[in-house]
Amino acid sequence: MSYICTKCGRETKNIEDFVRCPYCGSKILIKGRPNIPREITTD
Ligand SMILES: [Zn+2]
Repeated sequence: MSYICTKCGRETKNIEDFVRCPYCGSKILIKGRPNIPREITTD
């Protein structure tokens, strides 16, 4: 299971009981992958 920080958008794995972003310290994380729109060029 991976978590995405809603503050910095980094992906964090292997989170233990206390869920917190190790990068920015935000406690607000969402499960799974965020729906990030990618720029796709199709001719
Ligand atoms: Zn963060």
